Formats: sequence, C-alpha cells, structure tokens
Amino acid sequence: MIIKGNCLIIISGPSGVGKSSITSKLLSTCKNLDFSISYTTREKRPSETNNDHYRFVTKEVFDKLIQENAFLEYEEVHGNYYGTPIAPIEESIKFNHSVLLDIDVKGAYSVINTNHFDCVSFFIRPPSIQTLKERLISRADMSNDEIKGRVLEAKKEIIKSVHFDHLVVNDNFDDCFMEIERVLQSV
Ligand code: 5GP
Repeated sequence: MIIKGNCLIIISGPSGVGKSSITSKLLSTCKNLDFSISYTTREKRPSETNNDHYRFVTKEVFDKLIQENAFLEYEEVHGNYYGTPIAPIEESIKFNHSVLLDIDVKGAYSVINTNHFDCVSFFIRPPSIQTLKERLISRADMSNDEIKGRVLEAKKEIIKSVHFDHLVVNDNFDDCFMEIERVLQSV
C-alpha cells in the first residue's frame, strides 16, 4: 500500500493497547512509511535491540539532546524519558515518505498542536480497562506496581482521546487494523 507522503501518522493510546503490533503491520504493509525510532532512558528489555525499537541512552545524553533541540517532542512516561528526534523525520520527508510515530498521549497531543507537520492521528482504545489489564499481565515484563500505574494512567488518557482525528477500538486486531488502513487509504 502507498499512503499520502510528507505526513506524520501518529499511533497513540494507553500502554498495552496493541500499538506495537499495529505499527509493525503498518510498516510491513506501507511502502513509503518510515518508523520514528525514539530515544529513551528506559532499560532495554531482553526482546529489544538498540537502534531498532528505541535508541537507549542515559539521562545525561537525553538532557544533552534536549539542549540541542533535537526533539520534536519529549515526555516523561511511567518514570522514564522518551523523545521523538526531528532530524530523521525531516530526512524521510525529503524523500516524500511519511513517518509513523508510536508515542504516548501527551506527546501525541503536543505533536498535533505544533502544526509543524501534516498529521493523521489515531487514538487506539482497549475494549475495556479489564481487557487492558489482562493484556499488560500477559506481557509478563512488568511488576504489579508498574501494571497498576499503567492502568491508572490509561483511565486518564482515554479522556483525552477526543483530541485525536480517529478513535479506533482494538477489540479484534484485524478489524482494528483494517479500519486504520481504510483511513490511511482515504487521506
Ligand atoms: P514502552 O516503554 O512500553 O515501550 O513505552 C511506554 C510508552 O512510551 C508507550 O505508550 C509508547 O507509545 C511511549 N513512547 C515511545 N516513544 C515515545 C516518544 O518518543 N515520545 C513519547 N511521548 N512517548 C513515547
């Protein structure tokens, strides 16, 4: 699939809602879509590779990048810092590509409001808070306290979904993906 170029495609929503599965499938489906690799101060998980999922850096390096205005946006999310670097986005846009951002709700809100780039934003919602909790537990990579914190945060984030262009419920993955694909083919 070829989608509109020069555009930021924002996939946001609570942690555990399935954003990573959506972004992986979009990247394998869309020929002119590049992934925005965020910088983070969070510890790398065993399943992750540096410079692939994230660029894992120390807080000192992250602060230096803030000083250099390297980020389009950055936020503290669940006790760690995450930031979207501007330079790779500008590089992709030079080639008429679009860029996919998998970012938290606060970060998405600030990108939507910068008016710096053309954006299409999606808020991915879980069918219920209970389903979200079960998904976080099944990932088995977080402590109980982390899960509690993420569920609490999810309740606040869902309230902010009104600021997004599209609200899509991820109950059945294929249906959710088809809905996103349908929107991207029509913009
Ligand atoms: P995780 O640590 O589980 O990979 O991600 C935690 C949260 O941080 C997710 O909601 C993810 O979308 C968000 N996130 C990842 N990269 C960025 C970023 O560059 N900026 C912001 N604001 N959030 C991000």
